[in-house]
Amino acid sequence: MLYQRSSQLFAEAEKVIPGGVNSPVRAFKGVGGTPIFVKSAKGAYLFDEDGNKLIDYINSWGPMILGHAFEPVVNAVIERAKLGTSFGMPTALETEIAELAVSMVPNIDKIRFVNSGTEACMSAIRLARGFTNRDKIVKFAGCYHGHSDSFLIQAGSGGMTFGTPNSPGVTKGTAKDTLLAKYNDLNSVKELFESNKNEIAAIIIEPVAGNMGCIPPQKGFLEALRMLCDENGTLLIFDEVMTGFRLAKGGAQELFGIKADIVAFGKVIGGGLPVGAFAARNEIMNYLAPLGPVYQAGTLSGNPLAMAAGLEMLKALNSEPAIFERLDQKTAYLEKGIAEKLTANNVKFTINRVGSMISVHFDEASVTDLQSASKGDNETFKKFFHGLLKEGVYIAPSAYETWFITDALSYEDLDFTINAIDKISKEF
Ligand SMILES: *Cc1c(COP(=O)(O)O)cnc(C)c1O
Repeated sequence: MLYQRSSQLFAEAEKVIPGGVNSPVRAFKGVGGTPIFVKSAKGAYLFDEDGNKLIDYINSWGPMILGHAFEPVVNAVIERAKLGTSFGMPTALETEIAELAVSMVPNIDKIRFVNSGTEACMSAIRLARGFTNRDKIVKFAGCYHGHSDSFLIQAGSGGMTFGTPNSPGVTKGTAKDTLLAKYNDLNSVKELFESNKNEIAAIIIEPVAGNMGCIPPQKGFLEALRMLCDENGTLLIFDEVMTGFRLAKGGAQELFGIKADIVAFGKVIGGGLPVGAFAARNEIMNYLAPLGPVYQAGTLSGNPLAMAAGLEMLKALNSEPAIFERLDQKTAYLEKGIAEKLTANNVKFTINRVGSMISVHFDEASVTDLQSASKGDNETFKKFFHGLLKEGVYIAPSAYETWFITDALSYEDLDFTINAIDKISKEF
């Protein structure tokens, strides 16, 4: 495949946009080469500026769970745009999507909409700190909760790809209130609670980690965190920006049967428009301005185009629960196919999967936390990435990313991908 026009466009972009991109991982630094410029997308496919067609396993990093240019979403956005694109005043649409989200997700009474997952997580910890009157938070190495200061400490994919886990510009004052634990390691959390008695406002966690590849929580881990929080007056925040409306209607809370105190959303909830949200039971949400003292706001929050897109997406997911089963089956089929081919070609690998989140690590040892995720062979990953690209299959340009399976993928697409993996892995 030729990428002449894409490389040309990238060269032009680099002159006026830092690194040519508006989000670092898009720049291909982890795999080499230059990024592909998209012209359009439909269903499971991307069409780039050079006229190539690619099967898409990233799907805008999650939002396009029903495929690109999903018609109900596209039509709703077009119709809404004709009525005006922003008012900075309440609309009935906001209540409609809030009611639907609250009905789909267990254990929440109220939801506040923001513009990104970053904002959702940032606001969730402010709320937790205000509610508990404590300063410290526990996060897990390798978990990503957006790019706000408190979280840019061993933050997974972007940071790891670029080797800057602690970004300059984050002050020591901010960093000292973020305590780091190891994913799937309860003792590392317990130790933090012992040395910071009555100081920890919240534990924030990706209930299935997705930003150091896909890492499932080990049996009992989330339950134990729930208990630890209850014993210490600490809130449990599930960052469901990836898992929300993807692993089940009610996200990881539903899948694992665990109640979080605050839940953060993004990605799928916006149907491909910039939307994030955070939600909790009344007692906590009523702490937010204008009801309570914790301030949080947004000129474009609840934007009608974004809400129209999100509403159609949630409606589609809510009206057909079989979607989640179908996604699970398709991803399981992919997992099995990839495993068979890599085994047959003597490639060392581990595949992690929960529902429609899956990642391939090029190492035999099981991948349970940041440390084990970092052991994957990046040279093999680069060959894997570029090999697949040549065959017309697009996966994330970083070894630390989860693939997001879309329901628009057909079994023919999956077979094509599995055969492509067979072909390229013969030459690893
Ligand atoms: C993507 C992501 C975020 C950040 O969301 P943005 O919309 O990119 O700001 C936060 N948490 C998790 C788990 C994510 O995957």
